[in-house]
Amino acid sequence: MKQSKMLIPTKKEAPSDAEALSHIMMARAGYIYQLSAGVWSYLPMAYRVIRKVENIIREEMDKVNAYEMEIPAMLPAELWQQTGRYEAYGDNLYKFSDRNDRGFVLGPTDEEPITAILRDSIKSYKKLPLVVYQITDKFRDEGRPRYGVLRGKEFSMYDGYSFSADQEGLDEAYNDQAKAYRNIFDRIGLDYKIILADSGTIGGDNSQEFSAPAEVGEDVIVYTDGGYAANIEKASSKFTGVQQTAEPAKLEKVSTAGKHTVDEAAECLKMDPSQVIKSMFFMAKMGEDNYQPVMVLMRGNDEVNETKVTNAIDCEELELASEEDTMKYLGAHPGSLGPVGVGEDVKILADNYVKVLVNMACGANDDGYHYINANIDRDFRVDQFGDFRNVQEGEIAPDGNPIKFTNGIEIGHIFKLGTGYSEKLGAKVLDKNGRLVDMIMGCYGIGVTRLLSAVAEQNADENGLVWPDSIAPFDVHVIPVNAKKEDQMKMADELEQKLTDAGYEVLVDDRKERAGVKFADSDLIGIPLRVTIGKKAADGIVEVKIRKTGETIEVKQEELVNTVGILLKQLSNSTDDNE
Ligand code: ATP
Ligand code: MG
Repeated sequence: MKQSKMLIPTKKEAPSDAEALSHIMMARAGYIYQLSAGVWSYLPMAYRVIRKVENIIREEMDKVNAYEMEIPAMLPAELWQQTGRYEAYGDNLYKFSDRNDRGFVLGPTDEEPITAILRDSIKSYKKLPLVVYQITDKFRDEGRPRYGVLRGKEFSMYDGYSFSADQEGLDEAYNDQAKAYRNIFDRIGLDYKIILADSGTIGGDNSQEFSAPAEVGEDVIVYTDGGYAANIEKASSKFTGVQQTAEPAKLEKVSTAGKHTVDEAAECLKMDPSQVIKSMFFMAKMGEDNYQPVMVLMRGNDEVNETKVTNAIDCEELELASEEDTMKYLGAHPGSLGPVGVGEDVKILADNYVKVLVNMACGANDDGYHYINANIDRDFRVDQFGDFRNVQEGEIAPDGNPIKFTNGIEIGHIFKLGTGYSEKLGAKVLDKNGRLVDMIMGCYGIGVTRLLSAVAEQNADENGLVWPDSIAPFDVHVIPVNAKKEDQMKMADELEQKLTDAGYEVLVDDRKERAGVKFADSDLIGIPLRVTIGKKAADGIVEVKIRKTGETIEVKQEELVNTVGILLKQLSNSTDDNE
């Protein structure tokens, strides 16, 4: 194909709001164009990459007997009202109505419609387990769309759904999906980790995320060299707290005026921050219009893990309390909050590490004051102890090895859903014993467009994109250095033909640009191999450059097809080795 005929608007400068390397390079290389915050067009080069990713997904899903279908983007609001997600999904859900005032949503994920479809299509366990999927655009009104196509308001997602009549069927489908995911990400050439993820109040190890380590990743992955890997929301570590043995001293109220953080308060009180209690005040949504005030106590050097708190009290949503609510229940501002004297209407949770402390400091619910020598039971009550903190680097993971952290981009998610949606939408089948049972569901997602960002984050360099061959827009970039020279252009055409006949995808830079511009653009675009037709063309010699390593070799024209085959094979083996 001819570059002069293709829309590849390369640019010297990145958009001013681009922070992530993948965003900068995909924008500069003319792959993506932003129409509005988080709303992207995929220009021909990106489109080709996306099609390749999709086809890898299709091939691997065929192997595990998961088959493709399509659900529309516009979905009736009633379905979402029936499951309660019309409200619960929050501001990310796009809602609108048609000319007759019928309510609709734009699908952000499709559990509701697929459950309705299966409910009306399958009546017996004999047809189960069954896995269906689609690769379509999803819509989420993200509060902070950013990093290019990593987090968009409209994005392409693979979403699969499994239905079974029993637990074994669910396990089989879930394991098949996990296997297909591994094959997909291996073929794409990504470095990724499979991590335990929070599965909400269903509990258990029902959910795993596939996460690509990258600096801009918004998730913290907790892992060890022994193979433990979990999302920080879910990660736990060995409890190493030791009961303190000091004599309880007299409770005293002292001034800490102007000291707002735990560290400031600790310094003022001449205490270690681990002995100063951080009191976080939340409003937990327990149901519609039903809020429970919750205080969570941590050591000053720990961070509260809201997911663990949410699961412990089984609430729908946990939100930091507003100033108004904080004043209403506690009579002071954050920085001076604490558990002493707090009424029964506030539920008090404390992390296990607080349980072993004696003579701690805490806010006095009086602005500018702290208590010192506060002790559990004598001075304040705790309704529930538990693991409510984020683990820290160096602590011991459940597998006995020290914990490390890395940032990761969530690229996929597999989740044993259970019967929640089936129950709400009445999706039942007859089981082996002729009894009507709720279908057991699993749901599976891959961020197709996000994958481009993840691959680019891991592979791009300061000169531009570097695509693994499995998803590169083309295999070979043929560059006649001087488009005005007839022999060079003729050779470009011949080589294009030969390579195409051998099954490779070829882009020929036939533009009448300076050589420097062509080379810079070639690096930017990131096709795995570049074939330069220059001065030595007259002797039948071309130069092949490997984009990833920068290595160049001279090759006789007749040997080019063979060499390209060998080099591409080597490149794909080297990505296999990375795993
Ligand atoms: P995140 O935590 O990043 O918001 P999520 O957990 O809400 O993602 P899922 O509902 O599990 O996402 O969606 C399945 C997959 O879709 C994710 O693993 C991710 O790869 C992708 N994805 C989710 N939101 C976006 C988005 N706004 N833009 C691009 N891809 C997305
Ligand atoms: Mg997820």
